[in-house]
Amino acid sequence: MIRNDWTIIEVEQLYHTSLFELLIKASETHRRFHDPVEVQICTLISIKTGGCPEDCKYCAQSSRYQTNVKAEAMMTLEEVKERAKAALRQGVTRICLGAAWKRIRDGAAFDSILQMVSELAKLGVEVCCTLGTLNPAQAQKLKEAGLYAYNHNIDTSREYYPQVITTRTFDDRLQTLDIVRKINISVCCGGILGLGESEEDRISFLHTLCTQSAHPESVPINQLHRVPGTPFEHQEPINFWEVLRTVATARILMPATMVRLSAGRIKLSWEQQALCFLAGANSLWFGEKLLTVANPAVESDEAMFSLFGFKKRPAYVHRRD
Ligand code: SF4
Repeated sequence: MIRNDWTIIEVEQLYHTSLFELLIKASETHRRFHDPVEVQICTLISIKTGGCPEDCKYCAQSSRYQTNVKAEAMMTLEEVKERAKAALRQGVTRICLGAAWKRIRDGAAFDSILQMVSELAKLGVEVCCTLGTLNPAQAQKLKEAGLYAYNHNIDTSREYYPQVITTRTFDDRLQTLDIVRKINISVCCGGILGLGESEEDRISFLHTLCTQSAHPESVPINQLHRVPGTPFEHQEPINFWEVLRTVATARILMPATMVRLSAGRIKLSWEQQALCFLAGANSLWFGEKLLTVANPAVESDEAMFSLFGFKKRPAYVHRRD
C-alpha cells in the first residue's frame, strides 16, 4: 500500500528498526513493486557548469567559494546530442540536463534548453532537467518540449536546511515541486547525506518526502563529496550504515519510487552497493562525473552489473503492480 500519511514517529521507528529486520522489510517491499534485478542507468549532463549565485555550502559550482570549478559557457545542442547518443549506447534510459542556475530566465538560454529537451525526447529516453526555480509557464513549455521529469532536491531536513543554504528557503523548494507536479511532470527530489545533519534530520527529510501529496517518482540519495574551498570541506564522512538505513527506509516509505544511488557511490565497495540494492536502491548513474563529482568508471559498473546479474531497466517503466 502506498501511504502519504506517515507520521514522524512511524518514520523514526522504521529508521531505528534492527538493521536485518529493516533490510528484509525493504527487500520484500522492493520485490513487490519492482523487478529486483532491474536497475535503471541514468546520466547527468552538466549543460551549464559553475558560476551559480546560490550559496549551497557543499557545492563546487557556487560562485561564492574558491573551488577548482570555473564558470563555463552553455553546451551546444550538438554537444548535448552527441553525449546523449553515447550514453544511450551504454544502456542509459534517463538523461538529466543540469544548469547551475538559481532560476530559469526566459530568453535564448531557456529556448536552447527547450530544443535540447525536444531532441533528446525523440531518442526515446526519459529526459529530466535540473535548472533551479521555475514558474508554471516555464514548466508548461518544458512539458510541451517533451520533458519527463524535473529534479529539485530538498537536500536535508527543514530544520537543518538553513545551516546548508541561506539564499533560498525549504518552502521555496516545496513550492517549485508543487508547480512541477501540477503540470504533471514527474518529480525527482532527494537529498545529500553527510552534511553534518543528525539522525533526526535524516528522519525528518524522509518524512517530508513520503508525506508529499504524491511521492516523488524518483529519489536520489547522495553522499557529500567534500569539495576543497567550500564551507563543508571538512565535514565528517557519513557512516555507511546510515546510508543503508536511509535507502531501506526510503524504499519502505515510498515503495513505487525509483531510489537512485547518486553522488558518493564511488566511496562504496561492491559489497556495500549490493546491500543498498538489496535494500531497494534500483538506479545509478553512469559516467565518470556526476556534475563535478567523481563517479565509478563505466567499465567497473558494467562488471558489477554482470556479477550481480542485473538487467538495465528500459525507459518509462512504472511500478509492477
Ligand atoms: S547545488 Fe545547485 S543551486 Fe546550489 S550552488 Fe550548486 S549549482 Fe547552485
